[in-house]
Amino acid sequence: MSKVKGATKTPIRVAILGGGVAGITLASELSKYSIFDIDIIEKSSVLGGLHRNVNIGNLNYDIGLFLFSSNYGLFEFYPEIVDLYVPVNCKLLRSSLTSRGNIDRYPMSIEGYIQDYGLLKFFYACVEIIVSKILYYKRNTLSSWIKYYIGNSIYQDSGLRTYIERLYGTSDKNIDIEFATKRLSAIKRVGSLRAILSKIITLKNPEYLFKNDNLNSLKGSVSKTLVRPQEGFGKVYNDIIRNILISRGVSVLTDCQLKAIRLLDKGFEIEFPDNHRNLYDKLISTIPLEAISFLIGKPIDFPIEYRALCSLFYRFNGELGYDAAVLNNFTEEGAWKRIITFSKYYATYEGDDYFAVEITVENSDNIDKIQLRENFESHVKGFGLFQGELKYQGDIIIKNAYPCYSRDLVDKVATAKHFFKELGIDLLGRQGEFDYISSNDAIVNAKELAEKIKANYGI
Ligand SMILES: Cc1cc2nc3c(=O)[nH]c(=O)nc-3n(C[C@H](O)[C@H](O)[C@H](O)COP(=O)(O)OP(=O)(O)OC[C@H]3O[C@@H](n4cnc5c(N)ncnc54)[C@H](O)[C@@H]3O)c2cc1C
Repeated sequence: MSKVKGATKTPIRVAILGGGVAGITLASELSKYSIFDIDIIEKSSVLGGLHRNVNIGNLNYDIGLFLFSSNYGLFEFYPEIVDLYVPVNCKLLRSSLTSRGNIDRYPMSIEGYIQDYGLLKFFYACVEIIVSKILYYKRNTLSSWIKYYIGNSIYQDSGLRTYIERLYGTSDKNIDIEFATKRLSAIKRVGSLRAILSKIITLKNPEYLFKNDNLNSLKGSVSKTLVRPQEGFGKVYNDIIRNILISRGVSVLTDCQLKAIRLLDKGFEIEFPDNHRNLYDKLISTIPLEAISFLIGKPIDFPIEYRALCSLFYRFNGELGYDAAVLNNFTEEGAWKRIITFSKYYATYEGDDYFAVEITVENSDNIDKIQLRENFESHVKGFGLFQGELKYQGDIIIKNAYPCYSRDLVDKVATAKHFFKELGIDLLGRQGEFDYISSNDAIVNAKELAEKIKANYGI
């Protein structure tokens, strides 16, 4: 690819902290312009950030559920990787283990609700949805916001409340409403008065109370949903993207744990592990807020909370008690959030299914993996989900997996972000922006930031 010439001749030195999709996208866009001299600085040995899998016994286990649509933003920059992604061709993508122990469509269906609670309770829940429009009209807390749309009974009975608490790793009372509702827009879509009326009038899709937010309908085509290449994320990020970036003149510095960053009157000086120092005109951080504040020597004076992810990996020989690739836990008990059965995408291995179990946990140094494993195994045993030989293969803990936006943190985080902006540091991505964003959101934000940077330099 030939580069576009910039408006001035002096190179603009850009440091991008973090080699996840946000950092990669920004570098990909800016590297189209020869005026930018870009370093991606990544502390781990690989690119890709949270897009990560673990190889055990010839099998790749993702740390969790990663689904991409065929218009995933990274494909625009790297068309050569599209065909490596595997279309999800299993009949059923997602299902739920209901609070009564049945398998339902994800997140829930009317049939499933009636099966669990009976017709009378179902009619009661329908009336309650209408009444809730008055009872919870203020929608000033997360639970009242959800109840306004789907009523209290469905919120509780469906297991949605416990699921949300599992997802965010804290009580629904502590979760900031603005933050959470970004991820729960499907509830609004199906539970608004307009949606209910249009359903009554058209009697369209009567079997769904609400359907999956950003992916395909389970009923419709699943051809647009993709998963990473069978060889793992490394094939995309380290074999292909890394080399393309380097060929475009980007320096990709992995295994690079920075020592310090000094703010200069104009620009930044970064001190590397081997003590050498480089000067930069622009600094973009996609790393956690407390990491960047530590590097610039101005620690944040309040705790920034994250939830960690513990992923357990298993092989299984026997009869699976569910058909879908992804099984979400909507029961009241069990700490696990969902099971992702990779053998449904990539075929079984030596006759075994293989899967990962996602569990959101407190971000501490003393996570009791044995207890989490026992909790999972005894919980699923109670529901007969794995009739056969369950073979534990390993686990991984990912710290900083989920920003935890509790209600009392919102203003403080906004102040901290403003502080970095004033210092001339751009924050980007899930960690940098401290937001619960998807890969695609991270890519969109990176593209927007690239536009701003270009505009600032008259490009
Ligand atoms: C289990 C799970 C499942 C998900 N599933 C989906 C999905 O299906 N679809 C979807 O669109 N999104 C999904 N997401 C969200 C998606 O993975 C993230 O939004 C995206 O990866 C964020 O990219 P990022 O570059 O902003 O941050 P990250 O991927 O977190 O990258 C930040 C990078 O900074 C590096 N770093 C940290 N500290 C330092 C330091 N001091 N110096 C240098 N480098 C440092 C890290 O090693 C990392 O590589 C999921 C997330 C999780 C946790």
